[in-house]
Amino acid sequence: MRNNDTLYIVVPCYNEEAALPETSRVLLGRVAELAEGGRVSAESRVLFVDDGSKDGTWDFIAGLKAVSPYAAGLKLSRNRGHQNALLAGLLAAKEDADMAISVDADLQDDVSVIDGFLDKYYEGFDVVYGVRSDRSSDSAFKRGTARRYYRTLRKMGVEIVPDHADCRLMSKRALQALAEFKEVNLFLRGLVPLVGFPSATVEYPRRERKAGESKYSLKKMLALAWQGVTSMSVRPIRLILSLGVTLLLLGIAALIAFSIVAACGHPEWQWTIILAAIAAACGLNLTATGIVGEYVGKVYLETKARPRYIVEDYFK
Ligand code: UDP
Ligand code: MG
Repeated sequence: MRNNDTLYIVVPCYNEEAALPETSRVLLGRVAELAEGGRVSAESRVLFVDDGSKDGTWDFIAGLKAVSPYAAGLKLSRNRGHQNALLAGLLAAKEDADMAISVDADLQDDVSVIDGFLDKYYEGFDVVYGVRSDRSSDSAFKRGTARRYYRTLRKMGVEIVPDHADCRLMSKRALQALAEFKEVNLFLRGLVPLVGFPSATVEYPRRERKAGESKYSLKKMLALAWQGVTSMSVRPIRLILSLGVTLLLLGIAALIAFSIVAACGHPEWQWTIILAAIAAACGLNLTATGIVGEYVGKVYLETKARPRYIVEDYFK
């Protein structure tokens, strides 16, 4: 069994001074145990990423080096949001690490999940998704909306692991592949499945936030949800196109039918011809918009310059 690879635990932190004392104690302690047991290398780190916090988060992180040799810190110049902070940490980690695990600063993701991740990693999986088995700590509203949202996303053709947020392990080559995705509108949950490679899931219970408040305001949550649709899928444009074509065809059919009825001795039907004409004109308009949208969608995907494929193996 392989062992002793270098692990980086990446922790995005935004105004987390209340949660960090406990979080850093637990995570640094866990990495120390794993390193001493030879499960991960002594070069392993817990990398705290300060996402432009306005409180004492960075001072706390900077002070950790004196506490533990396993502490590392990365400070962003300003608040760029959870997804960007996480990516910054993962891309920094890929330089020195063989694998990186991302967890939130509030320890809602149970740390026991780390052992499950490592087992799967050493079995040869490149991506291990943490799946929340018990979401009872989230409100019923949050659970209900999340479920409906992910169902909609999948209908839009976005491949998503159910009940998985951003708690996962990625191997070095998966991180290197992720770095090939140059897009700035980030939705990591949708991108990581596109990276491919052998993947597995590990279940864990989702806990209450240890300290401090949720840093995901309703506004940030809605922004992330919208990002998920608009950065991963051009299907909304297709919806407009199919709506337009349907309306156009129905309008034309009604126009013909009503004209025949009116011409066959029912002049009182004449006004319905106008309705049909309006529907057909609207349909034509939407169809035209949808076709233009189709090209805009193509331009959008081209500007993302995503890798067309990622090679897993090659020999000659
Ligand atoms: N976070 C961040 N930048 C932000 C907002 C949040 O780095 O702009 C971090 C936050 O510190 C935490 C993680 O993202 O480590 C998840 O946030 P939170 O726990 O508040 O979200 P919730 O679990 O309530 O959805
Ligand atoms: Mg949280």
